[in-house]
Amino acid sequence: MADTTTNKTKISIKVFVDKEKRRVVYAEADHSFVDILFSLMTLPLGTIVKMLGKHADTTFEALGSLNNLYQSLKDFPESYFATEECKFMLLNPRSLSYDHCKNLKLKIDDTDPVKYFICGTCWSKSYSTSLYFSICNKAKCRTCGGLMNSPHSSKSNVCLGGGVFVSDIANFIVTDDFSVMPYSTVGLLRLLTDLGINDTSHLEEKKIDMGSEQMLYLLKIALSRGFPFTRLIFHKNNPLLAGLAVPGLGSASDQPDFIKKEISTSSKMVLEVCLQKSTGKLLFAEAKEDFVEFLFGILSIPLGTVVGTLMNGTSSISCMDNVLKSISNMSVGRYLKSQDLKNMLVTPHFGQEYYSKNQLFPIKGTLTTQSVSDYPYQLKDPRLNSQLLRQCSMFFVTNDLVISPSSSQLAMKTLEKFQVTLNDIEKYEISIGLEEGLRLLKASLRSSLTLTSILEHQLKR
Ligand SMILES: [Zn+2]
Repeated sequence: MADTTTNKTKISIKVFVDKEKRRVVYAEADHSFVDILFSLMTLPLGTIVKMLGKHADTTFEALGSLNNLYQSLKDFPESYFATEECKFMLLNPRSLSYDHCKNLKLKIDDTDPVKYFICGTCWSKSYSTSLYFSICNKAKCRTCGGLMNSPHSSKSNVCLGGGVFVSDIANFIVTDDFSVMPYSTVGLLRLLTDLGINDTSHLEEKKIDMGSEQMLYLLKIALSRGFPFTRLIFHKNNPLLAGLAVPGLGSASDQPDFIKKEISTSSKMVLEVCLQKSTGKLLFAEAKEDFVEFLFGILSIPLGTVVGTLMNGTSSISCMDNVLKSISNMSVGRYLKSQDLKNMLVTPHFGQEYYSKNQLFPIKGTLTTQSVSDYPYQLKDPRLNSQLLRQCSMFFVTNDLVISPSSSQLAMKTLEKFQVTLNDIEKYEISIGLEEGLRLLKASLRSSLTLTSILEHQLKR
């Protein structure tokens, strides 16, 4: 029933429930719901982690080790970064669809709009050599060394009514694993047959009104446990759900061809790992800044690029694989509003324009220009020698991606936690290239045993 006690925006969907099996068979939704599902593909992993972290239900977590990775970045001492703006940039990855997503009916990503800062001194002297902007107010001007802290507002040039990505007159069928298809009776009957449903008298229609909080909850379930509609409606009281297996991590053979080609030539990083001799359990790893930069950079990659380009639609988060597949299969014009929007959803890119040279994945950054009084300003490159971290010390990395500068205290505490004696430790050196990076990425989405995933694959003394 519609909630009349608050005037907060809600979107309505109809779900069709199998009364006997207590499961949602499918949902019928309009553009406002489908637009939100599709918009997820454009959001960098770090943005999704931040967004889901705000949800009140903490009884389960989504996105495996990425929560720890994001928190580690947040806690990381600023002095280890190459420039003042590197940390800000990594913590606040840009989404190319930001202006579009402002028009979504429910706001699920409450990231502040990007602000632009330029050097006030050079601006007033009209130095044409410093046509650079920064996205935070801490960067230092390359020309005069002053702080780039004069704000300049940006004009949004996206002001569309109705649907954001999909047509606002179409209706859609969404399955309980987030396959989305335009509504057609023939399509629906085929779906029911495929699901083994011959008798529709068991199906009951329910209307759900969802606000932002509930939508976030649904997405959190979709990104962690699967069967989002059924879990949303029946909560934990459905014994059937307990038996439903979470899909496995899949195999490395799912790689797209262009990745297979790159694997042989990709550069390698070295990681030292400490194992417990008696059990083979991974205790911790120690790495240089190259590996840490690689890990922090993962947070800037949009979900669609991870699921599509890097994992070929077999990311291990089946709901997201299905959303991406649905977008790829959907025709432009009648359902998706334009080819440009379709490209925005499925075309690979790296969230940041300036990413680390230690980024292993074969994807490119997206150039950002900003018009300030009709001059095209470019984003200032925040890196030093194409690195985001200073070349300085060693870093301590746990299996579930908690990262901090190495210290003896940290090592002792970890050994104590695992109750391991010093003579029960052995050290290995492993090298990490594109193939291992992909394994790690895949594992980080689902599991807390993230480093173990590369260890099993490649271990050399
Ligand atoms: Zn200046």
